[in-house]
Amino acid sequence: MNLSRDMYLKMGISNQVYDFCEAIWQSLEKRFDEIDNISEYNQMKVIEAMQKNRVSEACLLGTTGYGYNDLGRETLEAVYADVFHTEDALVRPQITCGTHALALALMSNLRPGDELLSPVGKPYDTLEEVIGIRPSKGSLKEYGISYSQVDLLPDGSFDFEGIRKAINDKTKMITIQRSKGYQTRPTLSVGKIGELIRFIKEIKSDVICMVDNCYGEFTETIEPTDVGADMVVGSLIKNPGGGLAPIGGYLAGKKECVENAAYRLTSPGLGKEVGASLQVMNSFYQGLFLAPSVTANALKSAIFAANIYEKLGFAVIPDGKESRHDIIQAVTFGNPEGVIAFCQGIQQAAAVDGHVTPEPWDMPGYDSPVIMAAGAFVSGSSIELSADGPIKPPYAVYFQGGLTWQHGKFGIMKTLQRLTEKGIVSSNFHEINR
Ligand SMILES: *Cc1c(COP(=O)(O)O)cnc(C)c1O
Repeated sequence: MNLSRDMYLKMGISNQVYDFCEAIWQSLEKRFDEIDNISEYNQMKVIEAMQKNRVSEACLLGTTGYGYNDLGRETLEAVYADVFHTEDALVRPQITCGTHALALALMSNLRPGDELLSPVGKPYDTLEEVIGIRPSKGSLKEYGISYSQVDLLPDGSFDFEGIRKAINDKTKMITIQRSKGYQTRPTLSVGKIGELIRFIKEIKSDVICMVDNCYGEFTETIEPTDVGADMVVGSLIKNPGGGLAPIGGYLAGKKECVENAAYRLTSPGLGKEVGASLQVMNSFYQGLFLAPSVTANALKSAIFAANIYEKLGFAVIPDGKESRHDIIQAVTFGNPEGVIAFCQGIQQAAAVDGHVTPEPWDMPGYDSPVIMAAGAFVSGSSIELSADGPIKPPYAVYFQGGLTWQHGKFGIMKTLQRLTEKGIVSSNFHEINR
């Protein structure tokens, strides 16, 4: 009757785990339809931008050396600008990661004496060193650029009065992180980001509003640049690379903001005119083409995980019913064994390195051991099925990705299988499944 059951049994999933997961999946039909609608809209948006800019076979070929007049690179940047409805974009393999793209956006648009404000609390860990919150060589602070921060209120809403007080003559740029990253605050919807930007621009209209768009791209039909952001910034080994981009980062926004970033990335005087695209153009284009559907697969996997673990009584953020604005799913186990078993289950589902068993280790820059599951085609890619967790209270695991929904589903089934085998979750699901 069901074609898949036998395959799952062969792949080490028990009948109990299969039945439990299958019942949850069947309850998610409406949620998945909503996700498909968003992805359908975004797919058209990408195709429209590609057609409008006359993407041709020649665009898929690369250049070497200086990369003057690189048709593929220039056309792709026009496509990104159209997808995000901005004046310009910078999309480059020379941008090494998301942190680099964000650093570039900040360092190129701020000058000594300026101030950067985060009105949404502490930024992503790696940005602490970029800004100089943690002392670091080459930070904004070393260049005389100050930083101020207004935390979200305890209920997760904006502290409008605090923000009004924090904006001063020096305030040149605002950084807004869309995804919660590894924090417990809610992820910001594009609508909420729009409200915040409107409020800020009423106080100071010429301030540059930048949004860290990592993990948020294509989770909604609109992007922060549709609601007033001057610039969005992200990584190509997350959502917009569609799993195919082997490296890279992007910025899209106001012409002047993007130009400043280009002069910083290459050199004053050269800007966007140089930067050979080597052999990556094909994967950048095809990755962007696939990105709406790949993001939808990751969202479905996250929603599936939330509903499974919520049903089993674990705290999940976001919960099983909430609307989604990024692809990250947190599950709190309350003990190290849960975090470890979950990550090992994800690894067991991997197509690459599925035979290895991850263990916690002391990673540089972290104050506790960390366990990471990542069997990826692109090293470190977190749009691919992956999970990690610090081995410290509250013992939460962060799960994201899944290039296909089927892989995400299998990964989550594997985590539950592992948890039951380790005795962390009882395999007697009937009692839970009232
Ligand atoms: C991943 C991420 C970054 C940094 O990107 P890297 O590619 O890891 O350097 C910054 N901000 C957020 C919200 C992220 O999710």
